Amino acid sequence: MEIINIGNRVVNNYIISTDKGYIVVDTGYAGSYSRFLKGLKEHHISLPEICYIFLTHAHDDHAGFLNELIRDTKAKVIMHKESPARLLQGHNSYEGGCSNRLALFFVEIMGVLGNKRHEFPVVNIPENTFLFDGNPQFLREEGIGIDIIALPGHTADQIGLLTGDGILLCGDAAMNGFPGINRNIIWIESLPDYKKSWDRMIKSKAEYIYPSHGKPFPKKDLSRFRSKLEKIRLYKVLRYEKYSCPGGSSTHL
Ligand SMILES: [Zn+2]
Repeated sequence: MEIINIGNRVVNNYIISTDKGYIVVDTGYAGSYSRFLKGLKEHHISLPEICYIFLTHAHDDHAGFLNELIRDTKAKVIMHKESPARLLQGHNSYEGGCSNRLALFFVEIMGVLGNKRHEFPVVNIPENTFLFDGNPQFLREEGIGIDIIALPGHTADQIGLLTGDGILLCGDAAMNGFPGINRNIIWIESLPDYKKSWDRMIKSKAEYIYPSHGKPFPKKDLSRFRSKLEKIRLYKVLRYEKYSCPGGSSTHL
């Protein structure tokens, strides 16, 4: 099983090669589809060879060109059962907060510079989409030796893939690099769930973590930094409070 990354410096875009075809993990920012197609071409992968599109969670930097990839392939889409409602919102949930002060500063700067509301095109979800409801075996039932693993906390719908080779593609359940600290993602919806997901990753058979942001790192880093999670507090982004509908669920990276 080979994993390549055709993403950019901001967000990784992993493609897993299996005996049953390619699994594309996430679909970048809106507007980056042509860049994705170029990446495919460079690796001699054609669109009909893509059999699965795996969405780690419904965020703007992961679901940006999902519509185009659904349109141009016959791939089966896999996502968490809570993702469709989020994808219909057309923007991230604003629930939660930043995991450190630097991240808060970074998110505020991003707000000044560009995509203030973390919007993405509303996704038309195909009827035969596989909605993950806790069963890790879906891909195994399809003859692929990969488990799906629930990793809520960054978002409620965050899921990952654990390969038989001990590689865990964790989406945003962890990250590696600026402005994250100690392998933590910069946005957390639910801190208790996030901690549980770290414990799940630590207990898993994974040896290497492939995050959506930053380079892969050894799983033992999670054990090393686990105690730091107890010191995390979440910093609210005031701008997001304004965007939240009164009484509705709010959201966000
Ligand atoms: Zn995210």
